[in-house]
Amino acid sequence: MKQFDYIKADSAEAAVNATGEGVHFIAGGTNLLDLMKLQIETPDTLIDISRLDLGGIADTSAGGLLIGALVTNSDLAQDSRVRGRYPVLARALLSGASPQLRNKATTGGNLLQRTRCYYFYDTARACNKRDPGSGCAAQGGFNRIMAVLGTSEECIAAHPSDMAVAMRALDATIITLLPGGDRRRIAIGDLYQLPGDTPEIENSLQPGELITHIELPPAPAGEQLYRKVRDRASYAFALVSVAGIVAVEDRIITSAALAFGGLGPMPWRDAAVEAVLIGKAPSIALFETAANVLLADARGYGSNDFKIPLARRTLVAALRDLTTSDLVEDAA
Ligand code: SF4
Repeated sequence: MKQFDYIKADSAEAAVNATGEGVHFIAGGTNLLDLMKLQIETPDTLIDISRLDLGGIADTSAGGLLIGALVTNSDLAQDSRVRGRYPVLARALLSGASPQLRNKATTGGNLLQRTRCYYFYDTARACNKRDPGSGCAAQGGFNRIMAVLGTSEECIAAHPSDMAVAMRALDATIITLLPGGDRRRIAIGDLYQLPGDTPEIENSLQPGELITHIELPPAPAGEQLYRKVRDRASYAFALVSVAGIVAVEDRIITSAALAFGGLGPMPWRDAAVEAVLIGKAPSIALFETAANVLLADARGYGSNDFKIPLARRTLVAALRDLTTSDLVEDAA
């Protein structure tokens, strides 16, 4: 590991104002330290933000929750308000990583974790995200875990977070502090960027900008579910996951929020999929139509071709479970 300076921040303001080229924040470190050991990240200075006063969870006046960026994944999953009002988030959190990692990983860090593309972590192989312009070894290589939606000629990596998928379905807002003291509110859908021809740029944060809180709106109406398909029962990233929130009144779907993990370079959400469902009676045929819309532009790269039919089956099964008591029999 390359040598680096270490600064313990006393305040969020001091942390953001100490940033500059070669300076990184560190909190739980569950992803960053691995990247540093492999010399994929080589900061000159680490600013330790882990002791800042950003660890609480509070009710908002609007009826939502304000989550400090340093709340651990374990504490967030166990919070009674999260379990009761946002079960999709609690279930997504508990499906991620291992208990030891969840005890260290923070909410802000989880949002910004890097892809688990094998070639990104192998410095002997070409990777446009790690070394822009060098190529992409995953295309034509072993790409079982890569994305099938939102990819580019430069990069086909998938976003690894479960938590962020649930937060995308819940319309979370990311609150940040900028050097100089200004704050920003960023809709979670605007936090992430598609790879395009700059896959090394993964989010819309500015240099030195620090995530301080995540705000959830009031709990949505309807049933919530997080369904994750993976290679083993624990400590595995999603091949496909669905965070679903669906409300049905008088046997008609009145609202739907669906976000997907494992399929795209960001927690994936497609308003057209939800629009297909709203105002209709739940049925397997309708769910198949929604899957057609979701996957219309999906592209496999060989080893990950299976994700396209898997995503279809996972979405249909999730919607069936969310609407079981109102499901309309399809005509024979
Ligand atoms: Fe790198 Fe992206 Fe290609 Fe993986 S998919 S090797 S992260 S450019």
